[in-house]
Amino acid sequence: SSFADLGVPKQIVDLLRNAGIEKPSVAQLAALPELIDLRKLGGEGEEDAKAWSVSMPSIAMQSHTGSGKTLAYLIPIFCDILREEEAMEKMDRNQKRHVNDVRAMIVAPSQELAMQIVRTIETVLGPYGKDITQQLIGGANARRQEEGLRKKRPFIVVGTPGRIAEMSRMGVLKTHGVSTLVIDEADDLLASNFRRDMARINEHCGKGAKGGRRTIICSATLKKETMDAYAYVAPDLKLVLA
Ligand code: AMP
Repeated sequence: SSFADLGVPKQIVDLLRNAGIEKPSVAQLAALPELIDLRKLGGEGEEDAKAWSVSMPSIAMQSHTGSGKTLAYLIPIFCDILREEEAMEKMDRNQKRHVNDVRAMIVAPSQELAMQIVRTIETVLGPYGKDITQQLIGGANARRQEEGLRKKRPFIVVGTPGRIAEMSRMGVLKTHGVSTLVIDEADDLLASNFRRDMARINEHCGKGAKGGRRTIICSATLKKETMDAYAYVAPDLKLVLA
């Protein structure tokens, strides 16, 4: 099936095609049906914007680098942002101020992976991707990242646990609007040096998000130990094998 068959709205299908991405990968074929609600598709006379909606189950995706896992979780995030942007067009400036909060938080165990995820966002969304994304990685200039958060009011934050937790603790990173939390290479994030920051991120994220929070866990292996270790993050994880 095509991206359109999986419920991806046309604007996003077009952006993917422009980036040379024509057909869903195996990971995307497995994950997108869990993350995009097809029941809302094809209703009589419904507008595009209303014709789909992203459902909120939490999933654990078995996947590795090269399987297309990054876009498997990014595409539903892009769907959320598109929907918000469309809703925002109908709001006045005062209402809009409250909408500009972080919607998606992507946590990765290494700076290299975090930067790769940001590159994938920019490959598909172009300069707009840059406008709505803030990278929060350790080892890079914290002040510049802080300024990025204040000025951009990003929809998406991608980073490593220490820096994300630090910005969140400082109150610079506002996490109450996070509706999607992605934990990439989750098996590596179980390492004891990440434990405190991961617990803090989970605690800070999304309690106040309207419609709840969805958690997407990506891991090369979905061993029972790994799943059990994340039970505190999302007790109802659905397994998706790709
Ligand atoms: P990942 O497995 O997420 O690390 O992605 C590996 C590479 O595959 C990235 O460079 C993506 O841009 C690319 N990619 C992801 N999905 C697709 C697709 N459906 N068709 C072609 N290339 C893709």
